[in-house]
Amino acid sequence: MSEPTFAVDYDHPDAAQTSCSTARAWAKQPREPSAAEKPALIEHIKRMLIEQNAVLVAHYYVHPDLQDLAEATGGIVSDSLDMANFGHQHPAKTVVVAGVRFMGETAKILNPEKRVLMPDLDANCSLDLGCPSDEFNAFCDAHPDHTVVVYANTSAAVKARADWMVTSSIALPIVKHLKEQGKKILWAPDRHLGNYIQQQTGAEMLMWQGACIVHDEFKTDELKALKALHPHAKVLVHPESPAAVIALADVVGSTTQIIKASQTLSNQEFIVATDNGILHKMRTLSPYKKFIEAPTAGSGANCKSCAHCPWMAMNGLLNLAQVLESGTNEIHVDAEIGKRAVLPIQRMLDFAKQIKLPTRGIGNA
Ligand code: SF4
Repeated sequence: MSEPTFAVDYDHPDAAQTSCSTARAWAKQPREPSAAEKPALIEHIKRMLIEQNAVLVAHYYVHPDLQDLAEATGGIVSDSLDMANFGHQHPAKTVVVAGVRFMGETAKILNPEKRVLMPDLDANCSLDLGCPSDEFNAFCDAHPDHTVVVYANTSAAVKARADWMVTSSIALPIVKHLKEQGKKILWAPDRHLGNYIQQQTGAEMLMWQGACIVHDEFKTDELKALKALHPHAKVLVHPESPAAVIALADVVGSTTQIIKASQTLSNQEFIVATDNGILHKMRTLSPYKKFIEAPTAGSGANCKSCAHCPWMAMNGLLNLAQVLESGTNEIHVDAEIGKRAVLPIQRMLDFAKQIKLPTRGIGNA
């Protein structure tokens, strides 16, 4: 194993000792490389991706440098449905996932023969952390007559217990389909997304009470005040947000769906209620439009949890280079769990094909 070419250090090393997982995640935000370091670092990563037959798959919420690098090297920046699809179809032997842990696990479950690497294996998600598999199994055992539908933001072990996995791009049509079949649904883990889907479909749904720490922060009164200041702005909201925030939306949808809305609507101003990492793609696609972050209570909070995911922020150019150099941070999923977890994921991908949901796998980007 060779010495790393670029040193990775972290901005707030002391906070890594705290018991708060959110604060720990912020503590592990990697140092931003200097402007002088960046060009050589980016070229170095590009070379390693080619040498190692690797593809970079990035989420809209990660640092703009990683989003740009993924696209410049033949990878993808997208939502978790597209990331799963793309990594599955791409011929590369190694998939490098710049996102959070469940995305790396999903890539591994779909591609057990491939090597899946992540810049930081501690990059997690409050929804995943808030739904431990033992408690989730007990919840399912108590309701055996329900069809189990889990959001992508869950561990491999939780997916292994599910009948269906969904992402926010496809949750509505899948639950609608199950309702038409007369199924009762056990839903986990995001309560806001679950409530939104229940309200839209009228399905009978039992909810796990999880939440995303980023979307849970959006505030209704402050959003109303911001709307009053920008009366011509359209409000784009991700459905992991609280119901009162969703009620103020002009468009509710997954990251891909609200990016599309920001492109296709003729308005020149948008207020965006989701992780602010998405603004990079919106501004790139519509450089003459104005994008405003929806307000959160972050300024008064102890934890820095306003409109940017601390776990997504753990991905950076430096730790990406380091994992490619060292081969560390490989995702492993227990083979038995993987065999069961692939079924609900594959069911979702097949359903997406069946309803011709536009996804960005290879060849249809
Ligand atoms: S933004 Fe929320 S849902 Fe997405 S990874 Fe972070 S904590 Fe999880």
